[in-house]
Amino acid sequence: MMKTNKSEALKLAVIGGGASGLVAAISAVRQAEKQGRSVKVTIYESNSRVGKKLLATGNGRCNFTNDSVEKHNFHGDADFAEKVYTRFNNADIKAFFYSVGVFPKSDAAGRVYPMSLQASSVLDALRCETARLGIEEITDTMITEFRRKDSGFLLNSVYYADKVIIAAGGKAAPVHGSDGNMLSLLKKYGIEITPLLPALTPMQCDSFPKILKGIRAQGRITLRCLGRILAEDTGEIQYTDYGLSGIPSMQVSGFAARALYEKRGEVTATVDSCPSMEKAELKRELLRLIRSNPDMPGELLLAGLMPKRLGMTILSDCSVNPSKSIGMLHEGVVDKIVSQIKGKKYKINSVKGFNDAQVTSGGISTEGIDENTLELKMLRGAYACGEIINVDGDCGGYNLQWAWSSGMLAGISAVREK
Ligand SMILES: Cc1cc2nc3c(=O)[nH]c(=O)nc-3n(C[C@H](O)[C@H](O)[C@H](O)COP(=O)(O)OP(=O)(O)OC[C@H]3O[C@@H](n4cnc5c(N)ncnc54)[C@H](O)[C@@H]3O)c2cc1C
Repeated sequence: MMKTNKSEALKLAVIGGGASGLVAAISAVRQAEKQGRSVKVTIYESNSRVGKKLLATGNGRCNFTNDSVEKHNFHGDADFAEKVYTRFNNADIKAFFYSVGVFPKSDAAGRVYPMSLQASSVLDALRCETARLGIEEITDTMITEFRRKDSGFLLNSVYYADKVIIAAGGKAAPVHGSDGNMLSLLKKYGIEITPLLPALTPMQCDSFPKILKGIRAQGRITLRCLGRILAEDTGEIQYTDYGLSGIPSMQVSGFAARALYEKRGEVTATVDSCPSMEKAELKRELLRLIRSNPDMPGELLLAGLMPKRLGMTILSDCSVNPSKSIGMLHEGVVDKIVSQIKGKKYKINSVKGFNDAQVTSGGISTEGIDENTLELKMLRGAYACGEIINVDGDCGGYNLQWAWSSGMLAGISAVREK
C-alpha cells in the first residue's frame, strides 16, 4: 500500500463506512472521474459490514432528508451547518439517491423516505454504487492510530493514504459501531472537541407516575430552564416508567442535556395534552359537556379528548371521583382540570445516555475545520464529515441530510486539485 510515485493514483482512505463515509467515497471517485484524475478509495470499517446504523434509521424505513431544511433544524454550530448543507441541499440529495435508483417519497410532515419504505434499499443502492466505482471496503478493521508518513498518512502502521476522510461518527448508539473512539484519538492529536452529550433521546423525570407507562398521546412539550423557554415540540408523546419519550421529547432532549450539563438551573417539561385548543376554548367545551350530560360518569369527561388512562390520571390529580356524575363538578374544578391538561409540569433529572440516543451533540470544533472543504486546519490532508463534527440536527431526516451534505463536500474536496 506504500505510495512510491506521484503519477500513481491518489490513495484516499475513508475511516468509517456509515452514511457520511459511503457518500464521501462515492463523491470522491465521481469528482476524480470528472477531473480525469485517478483515485483509489478504500473504506476502513470496524464493523463486519458497512452501513449498519443506516439500516436502523427511521424505524427501518430511513428518513433520509426533509422537504424543508433550515438553519433552525441544526444545533451545535448551525451557521457552519448551513454553509455546508446549502452547497448540497435536500434537492441535491434526492437527486443523488434518484440517480442510484432510490425514489424519494415525502410524508405529510415533509419527511423524505425511499418509496420502498425500507432502509435496506438505501444501503443496497449505496453499496452497489461503491462497487461500481471500484471502492474497496476493508471491514472488521478499526483504525486506532494514524500518523504522518511522507506527505500522507500511515493508518494502524500498515495502510498508507495520501489523504484521509474521517467519517467515524459520534458516540450515539454504539451498538451500531460509533462509540466515540475516533474523537478520543483526535483529542490526543490536539484537535479541539466540544463536550459530547446525547441528543434525540428520552428524558428522565423526577417522581414520574408509573401509571402512565405505555400511554401514547398527542401533546406539546415545552422545555424551560429558570422559566425561560428552551425548546418546544408537538407530536406523539410516549409515556414510559421513567419519563417522556417519543418524537417531541427527543426533539427537546438536546436542550435539556446541555442545560443540565451546564448546571444552569432546574429544567422542566410542561406537557400540554390538548394543544389544538386554547385554555378558554377547552374550558368552554368541558362546561358544555357537563351541562348537556350531567349524568355522565366522571371517568368519561376526558375520554373523548385523550387516552382514557391519561385522562383518569388528570382527574385523579384534580381529586375528581371518576364514578360520580360530572353534573356535580363546579367551575373551579373545571379550571383545575384545564390547567392540568394544558400544563402538567415534570422536573427533568437527566436524559437517557448515548446507548439510547440517536445522535451526538458536540464533536470536532468547527473552529478547526475549513468550512469550504471540511479539511482539518491542524491536520492538512485530513477531512471530516458527518456526526463526528459539532453539528446535530432535529428528528426528521436532518442528521442524514448533514451526513450526506458533509460527506459530499469532504469527498469532493479531498480529490480536487488545489
Ligand atoms: C436508531 C437510530 C435511528 C436514526 N434515524 C434517523 C433518521 O431516520 N433520519 C436521520 O436523519 N437520522 C437518523 N439517525 C441519525 C443518523 O443515523 C446519524 O446521524 C448518521 O448515520 C451519522 O452518519 P455518520 O456517517 O457520521 O456516522 P455513522 O453512521 O455512525 O457511521 C460511522 C461508522 O464508522 C465506523 N467506525 C467508528 N470508529 C471507527 C474506527 N476507528 N475505524 C473504522 N471504523 C470506525 C462505525 O462502525 C460506523 O459504521 C438515527 C440514528 C439512530 C441511532
